[in-house]
Amino acid sequence: MSTLIDGKAAAARVLAEVQAEVGQLQAQGVEPALAVVLVGDDPASHVYVRNKVLRAGEVGIRSLEYRLPAEASAEAVLEVVAGLNADAAVHGILVQLPLPGHIDEVRVLQAIDPAKDVDGFHSENVGGLSQGRPVLTPCTPAGCMRLLRDTLGDLSGKHAVVVGRSNIVGKPMAALLLAANCSVTVLHSRSIKPEKLCGQADIVIAAVGRPRMIGADWIKPGAVVIDVGINRIDENGRSRLVGDVDFDAVLPVASAITPVPGGVGPMTIALLMRNTVLAARQQTGQALQETR
Ligand code: NDP
Repeated sequence: MSTLIDGKAAAARVLAEVQAEVGQLQAQGVEPALAVVLVGDDPASHVYVRNKVLRAGEVGIRSLEYRLPAEASAEAVLEVVAGLNADAAVHGILVQLPLPGHIDEVRVLQAIDPAKDVDGFHSENVGGLSQGRPVLTPCTPAGCMRLLRDTLGDLSGKHAVVVGRSNIVGKPMAALLLAANCSVTVLHSRSIKPEKLCGQADIVIAAVGRPRMIGADWIKPGAVVIDVGINRIDENGRSRLVGDVDFDAVLPVASAITPVPGGVGPMTIALLMRNTVLAARQQTGQALQETR
């Protein structure tokens, strides 16, 4: 019988730790603060930002919102980022993606002070992660690692397959698994017979963006399956969210599996709060601890 990995409960544990750390920082006179920059009118981005601001408030992190119109120039966004970099009272900066098409996302992300880069997307942090240095790590993969450790304990020697190689999920996920002494295989759209390779894995991370692509024939009996995918589909006349894994088919095969929703999603936001506290600590002269 498969175990359901409860991302909401795991996220609540992370948030309780964060809240306690915020209390410690406040006792030292530090008020952890997260700035969120939102450009344009993308409805999903507005929901994400609202949730981040709400969660920050719940754990005692001060949040600041900067909203710019869709037609804002790259220079206007860079000016906001420069101001936040220079503001010692701001510890974390998050620019909500995607940015409108006329703005070069990489240019904006590279403008964020790496010490305040709570999304972990700056090349300084990406490079540090691949070198195994303690840096601010992308929130979704960091959340997946937390779920894996809660489920399996030590990951050493496990064969992990990551399906997807994006900069925000697949690649940092592979780096974190490698750092945890897994043997790592990364699959992508050009992989040949991916189900055969995936079928050898002790750990499967699905980050593809294709509803229910990964079926029971991809999964070795007893594997642990983490489904990052969030796909909105219409089914039986109603709209619903499903993952990249065919949950009903894989449930009897896996030893443990995350549901969608209620798996990885809540962890991403919890790890963002954790990164904000880590950034605040680092900027007040305290060592940045391992996030894995
Ligand atoms: P991207 O579209 O950036 O990347 C998708 C990856 O999947 C690519 O590397 C692509 O390969 C690979 N891929 C596509 N088709 C196949 C295939 N048939 N077989 C194997 N690999 C394939 O997506 P993201 O990484 O940004 O997101 C992935 C999913 O995770 C989405 O559903 C997204 O909504 C969700 N997500 C969820 C988050 C959460 O908090 N839970 C946070 C971030 C994302 P190639 O490189 O060759 O094109």
